Amino acid sequence: MKVLIYNEDTNKMESYNRSLGSPMPYIKNRYLTLKEFKGSTKSQILWSTKRTMEAFNKTRERWRKPIYVGYAFKRIFEGGHSGQSQHYVGVSFDTAQNLSVKQRTELYNLAKKLKVWVYVEPLRLTPRWLHFDKRATPSACSAGYPALKMNSKGNYVLVLQDALNTLNYNTGGLDGIYGQQTNRAVQAFQSRYNISENGVQCKTWQKLSSLVVGKGKSNKNEYY
Ligand SMILES: [Zn+2]
Repeated sequence: MKVLIYNEDTNKMESYNRSLGSPMPYIKNRYLTLKEFKGSTKSQILWSTKRTMEAFNKTRERWRKPIYVGYAFKRIFEGGHSGQSQHYVGVSFDTAQNLSVKQRTELYNLAKKLKVWVYVEPLRLTPRWLHFDKRATPSACSAGYPALKMNSKGNYVLVLQDALNTLNYNTGGLDGIYGQQTNRAVQAFQSRYNISENGVQCKTWQKLSSLVVGKGKSNKNEYY
């Protein structure tokens, strides 16, 4: 299947075709396969970033055992977390569903200590799993996705395009690049909902997320 990876070193979107049993791009030693990253999403396309894969490598290396991944990637229309979930961006993992409380705490402490993740969710919020992610900061709202504008590149643009396409604003496909056609789709959307923002900022993200999540393409009960 198709995998898009945003490479932070070159500021380019990379496209791969790999079988489900293959490791994700930039993953060492089969630490994480496409199948594990895909989880229960029905998507035929996946995306992540080079830094996210490197953070996973580091965590796995230091943990010295396989890390079970119960939930990683979702499309925005599939729902499953809050409106601006980092899972839609392909930069986060819900792991350790198979571990005891003690082991999960150890993995939590390791993930914090390594400083390769931007956010490790407090364990009181994740009673049966452990969430860590590589989110972009600062965000456009008090929490959530960053502001985007013409010529922005990366996974947040993919989520933007995915949301717009789901609502029938045509971005000309999913390529992670905020070009002319994505800009036209953004402007049409903003004009429909009377949002005046330069590029995509808090109000646009909030409106998009509230309209698109759980858009009926999958059953919310399948997920957490
Ligand atoms: Zn999560």
